[in-house]
Amino acid sequence: MQNLLDFDAGRFSLWFASLQEKPFRATQTLRWLHRFGAMDFETMTDLAKSLREKLKANAIILPPTLITTSISADGSHKFLFDIGDNNAIETVFIPEAGRGTLCVSSQAGCALECAFCATGKQGFSRNLTTAEIIGQLWQANRFFGHDPKDERIISNVVFMGMGEPLANLDNLIPALNLMLDDNAYGLSRRRVTVSTAGLIPAMDRLREECPVALAVSLHAANDALRDQLVPINRKYPLAELMAACRRYLEKAPRDFVTFEYALLAGVNDSAADAHALLALTEKISCKFNIIPFNPFPGSEYRRPGAERVRRFAEILLAAGKIATTRKTRGSDITAACGQLAGQVRNKRASSRIIPRANQRHAIFLKEHTI
Ligand code: SAH
Repeated sequence: MQNLLDFDAGRFSLWFASLQEKPFRATQTLRWLHRFGAMDFETMTDLAKSLREKLKANAIILPPTLITTSISADGSHKFLFDIGDNNAIETVFIPEAGRGTLCVSSQAGCALECAFCATGKQGFSRNLTTAEIIGQLWQANRFFGHDPKDERIISNVVFMGMGEPLANLDNLIPALNLMLDDNAYGLSRRRVTVSTAGLIPAMDRLREECPVALAVSLHAANDALRDQLVPINRKYPLAELMAACRRYLEKAPRDFVTFEYALLAGVNDSAADAHALLALTEKISCKFNIIPFNPFPGSEYRRPGAERVRRFAEILLAAGKIATTRKTRGSDITAACGQLAGQVRNKRASSRIIPRANQRHAIFLKEHTI
């Protein structure tokens, strides 16, 4: 059985051709699936009965299973999905004036082992399929009811949930294609942001195959420190990463890269660090997104005080850069790391959901995205 949520338009028409069906039938079906969130083939009323029968016999519509939805007092929604084999992923919707952002996951766990990230500490489970990536948007849209007048409509997607999206490019690209496709979600390229720890060859491939807005997790302005915080830096050091950012900008839909910088007390939060960051990024059109560290049990880092965060941001601002500090959102529904998975366990007597894959996400998703 073929899961139709694994197909972007190109794969859709190839598959329909193999069934001896015309390309426009593929487009019609794609629209039913993604524009209207159809769950079964019977609702696709303008498809011939014979085609519906063929689809029923050969295909399924299988998004990740939505287990719980939590709603914060500030309006953010958190979705917990079961993806089988003891893996769970989370997705968060963050409403703001004039836009709604969905923060999605690309992997269950993560292999990059960034020192300050709970997901990294938990290890890697597996890549999400295209259906599991796009399925997060599909499910969130269904939840909100597809009403274009609804202010909760999703206008932006950021890949800042669990996992390293560029380590899962083969499944990511069809999902991005669907997000941008007018027959599916029709999002603007500028409003879909992939966040990476700096996988240079994959950045180059993304630029060629599906350039969307790019965020790069910098966290340090020199190789010695970045080697510790973001170990992938040993393979792709800063000078090469900066060059890759410049190459990306040649084809990017936005004329800047966003540099994320997790602020860790006493590690990378001094005035000298801010100046080093400015020097490193001098030749790149960029914005900064400062993320005061979110502590989790067992983490050796601390969040700097508000005054220190403000001072760091001010140095960047004084140099004429745009620098935003990520706000906490939805802390009442996320609370501490791992807590959500615990709640799920309590709800289901013999739960198959374990906190493993959720932990860093549960922390990070308290935060407001760029
Ligand atoms: N793998 C992608 C997406 C990670 S999540 C990437 O590395 O960009 C988005 C951001 O949250 C990244 O910049 C990541 O480094 C940061 N992050 C992870 N754990 C954090 C924590 N405990 N506190 C603050 N930021 C964190």
